[in-house]
Amino acid sequence: MIIDLRSDTVTKPTPAMLQAMMSAKVGDDVFGEDPSINELEAMTAIMFGKEAAIFCPTGTMTNQIAIKTHTHPMDEVIVEKSNHVYYYESGGIAYHSLSSVRLINGDRGRIKPLDIEENINPDNIHHPKTRLVVIENTANRGGGSYYQLNEMKALTNTAHTNNLKIHLDGARIFNCLVEINTTPKEIGPLFDSVSVCLSKGLGCPVGSLLLGNKDFIASTRKYRKVFGGGMRQAGFLAAAGIYALQNNVQRLKEDNKRAKALSEIMQKTDWIESFMPVDTNIFIFKLKPEFKAEVILNKLKENLVYCFAIGGNSIRMVTHLDFNDEMLNKFSEIISKIK
Ligand SMILES: *Cc1c(COP(=O)(O)O)cnc(C)c1O
Repeated sequence: MIIDLRSDTVTKPTPAMLQAMMSAKVGDDVFGEDPSINELEAMTAIMFGKEAAIFCPTGTMTNQIAIKTHTHPMDEVIVEKSNHVYYYESGGIAYHSLSSVRLINGDRGRIKPLDIEENINPDNIHHPKTRLVVIENTANRGGGSYYQLNEMKALTNTAHTNNLKIHLDGARIFNCLVEINTTPKEIGPLFDSVSVCLSKGLGCPVGSLLLGNKDFIASTRKYRKVFGGGMRQAGFLAAAGIYALQNNVQRLKEDNKRAKALSEIMQKTDWIESFMPVDTNIFIFKLKPEFKAEVILNKLKENLVYCFAIGGNSIRMVTHLDFNDEMLNKFSEIISKIK
């Protein structure tokens, strides 16, 4: 039995999801004729209280297209320094949008309204124009930390009061929403655009959605084309997304719970120097200097447990649809035996 805790992207479609994919109605989406994609886009837009949506292959693409659509060259984007759009997207903001970033030193990937206010450039020829704020919920390198509803309201208010756009990288937004008992409809309207991943905890093989108002999404269609993301009969993938949104959202609570259980098991070892609280489905811990991440990862690998080193002698474990209670028990057994 392989226990793969490297990421929630490792899930494979279940038989029921495959069945939904196999029976999908498809057409050419570049012509706007794929009924499954049209259905997925409409359904997600309604779910989040937004006017429109666009289906893309990846969350990097939805984020980068959103930033490209919101900004002009020589603009500036305010973002926390560990957030995906800056840290994990290969310098895409510079490359695609010719914009600079204003990095915030946040709290586990999260920023505060004051961080926005204090980092808006004066409007004169010396400065890039501050145009956009990006926040991430849940925050990946923050160990799955999240914003409460009132915190999202405060941030979006501050952005809008200052004439800034605000984009939500909601790759794992549902892992947050199930914890704060909030519906997507309550948060969607707060933001100018929202990116949601289907290929993380929701268990789809591929896909992300970008949501916004009609004009915004109309503009994104051309950028998706120039990014090379205009797909044809991709309704087979959209059908997986429809299935996931109907069946795999509430169960994310289980993933969040199992991540907590993992952290409790790990805290019984004498390897750990410090760890981040487990708020959703990610557990990040730092090893004592006498234990090296490489060595621990290898020992785990010998027992068919796969985890991920994230630098600084830290290890990340992520729970997902393909990690069940049987594996959790097995994991506990393995950990207790490793010396
Ligand atoms: C995974 C992830 C994305 C998108 O990643 P892709 O692999 O490009 O789909 C975006 N933001 C965050 C926070 C993520 O964790």
